[in-house]
Amino acid sequence: MAYSEENYLMLSGIQHFEFCRRQWALIHIEQQWADNYRTTSGELMHKRVHDEELFERRGTILTVRGLRITSARLGMSGQCDVVEFRQSKDGIKVQGYPENWLIYPVEYKRGVPKEGQEDELQLCAQAMCLEDMFLTEIKKGSLFYGEKRRRHEVIFTEELRQKVETICGEMHQLFERGYTPKVKITKKCNACSLNEICIPKLQKVSNVSDYISKSIGEA
Ligand code: SF4
Repeated sequence: MAYSEENYLMLSGIQHFEFCRRQWALIHIEQQWADNYRTTSGELMHKRVHDEELFERRGTILTVRGLRITSARLGMSGQCDVVEFRQSKDGIKVQGYPENWLIYPVEYKRGVPKEGQEDELQLCAQAMCLEDMFLTEIKKGSLFYGEKRRRHEVIFTEELRQKVETICGEMHQLFERGYTPKVKITKKCNACSLNEICIPKLQKVSNVSDYISKSIGEA
């Protein structure tokens, strides 16, 4: 199946969707957003990556920043922080260069590697878009974590690719229905940038007046 351009969703939403379906729907369907430390510092980090020179060559590596990507197969569009083109006889031709190149995406994240797979899935989706655009195979890429200041390599296994396809399909289904999933309270709620909009606590009481009474009681 191929999606038409007007139905493309934001690829960066994959990380929200994997973290919590409801968070993704609040941001991408209901267009709500709340900055907290995590999202703001993450944005600053991405801005720094995208602000730098768009293109540079150092020896056998070409580095492109802020490359826009799409995939009709996934119905996604987005932007890569960094894409490296590494000189290799097994690679593809790139316009303007006589050598062959292997493609290697790098995504910048604040903090440390997460418990969940959201970052790996987002990076794999980027690789799948790049594969569709350059008609090549991309076997691996890296996540760079700001606190650790080092790269964590990700292999794009068949399992990871399958999960990306499933998630993208589910995102499109929910988006078409305009459906926001109900609250599912987990420990993730404490770190969620939309906690104050979602108000997961409300789901623990039968109605809003119970919640207000309970809050007054606690105060
Ligand atoms: S507060 Fe919890 S349920 Fe609500 S959007 Fe965030 S993670 Fe999801």
